[in-house]
Amino acid sequence: MSARRQPVLGVLGGGQLARMLALAAAPLGVKTVAFDVAADACAGQVAPLRVAAWDDHAALEAFAREVDAVTFDFENVPAATAQWLAERVPAAPNPQALAVAQDRLSEKTLFRDCGLDTPAFMPVATREALDFALGAIGAPAILKTRRLGYDGKGQFRLRTPADADAAWDALGAAAAEHGLILEAFVPFERELSVLAVRGQGGELRTWPLTRNWHVDGVLSLSLAPAPDIDGLQEQAAAHARTLAERLDYVGVFALELFVKDGRLLGNEMAPRVHNSGHWTIEGAVASQFENHVRAVLGLPLGDTAARGASAMFNWIGELPDPVPLLRVADAHWHDYGKAPRAGRKVGHATVCADGAGQLAARVEEVALALGRLPQAQPALDVLRG
Ligand code: AMP
Repeated sequence: MSARRQPVLGVLGGGQLARMLALAAAPLGVKTVAFDVAADACAGQVAPLRVAAWDDHAALEAFAREVDAVTFDFENVPAATAQWLAERVPAAPNPQALAVAQDRLSEKTLFRDCGLDTPAFMPVATREALDFALGAIGAPAILKTRRLGYDGKGQFRLRTPADADAAWDALGAAAAEHGLILEAFVPFERELSVLAVRGQGGELRTWPLTRNWHVDGVLSLSLAPAPDIDGLQEQAAAHARTLAERLDYVGVFALELFVKDGRLLGNEMAPRVHNSGHWTIEGAVASQFENHVRAVLGLPLGDTAARGASAMFNWIGELPDPVPLLRVADAHWHDYGKAPRAGRKVGHATVCADGAGQLAARVEEVALALGRLPQAQPALDVLRG
């Protein structure tokens, strides 16, 4: 009897997302191999890691030979690398979808084409164009790099038009290389995200909406399912479906949304598993990581229903002591195995419960034990609201 060969999933990028993909792939009998330019990429602690430059074709060739399919743990994989691999091995999402999501201008243009409103925006290529855009959009506004910006990096907030010089000093140099976009600053009521997965046959499933809080542009706290969203789940799911079909998307993606006057506005799309979906590991029947692996390998999709209520704390810069959290019922620790560094995502914790009251009690217990009450407070306010 011949042994069944284990499918091998290649992940371009070896960060915590690749690491969590590998951990979700293993029970499915899927082996994961990650590829990164950094020898200490943290996925390497749980899966084989190939280390080479993004344009090292010999290394990419060897990688393509050892995997059955390729996916990505970050959207800024050079387009040429993604394309080169996609020509040799099945790749999901497809490089065109990555390219759209890499550019804030094409992303927001696509949102509008698909009927999803966005904050007012205009491309900015020169200092004069910035004044023109500010005249059209008004202040406050945010100037962002079109490419390679994430977690609030490559952004400058303009409170008044008088901030234009400072904004240009900060980002003007990036205008030639990456392009810039000016967006109206939206005084939103809430930030939500919808995680969705589309299978190879076109089946689409969405997890319940997640409510998110950012600090300095970086995700700090998530609550799922987002409470009090009357009707927004169906709207968000419909937008996710339209976008996924337009892009012929396969795999998991996140759509980050603002709620303003009760209406959804599209902020950005992440063409990959996403930080605001980490709660699904323990808080949903099938996690975003498991369903991404299933989709990329053409397996049936798992159930995206929530098991109860969940809150996720992001650990930025350094990890708190895990021991007090480990004493709390249904609280789950995730250490990415990364060295501490200011602004770096080094881990997260998810607290699960049957409902809002129990979740509030557990979140408070964790937050007090870890000295993180201010970080938890927005979720506690909502859960007890
Ligand atoms: P981004 O990298 O574009 O997702 O921005 C990071 C965070 O900055 C978002 O999650 C929001 O909290 C905030 N932000 C970005 N763009 C806007 C905007 N146009 N209006 C208000 N807040 C924004």
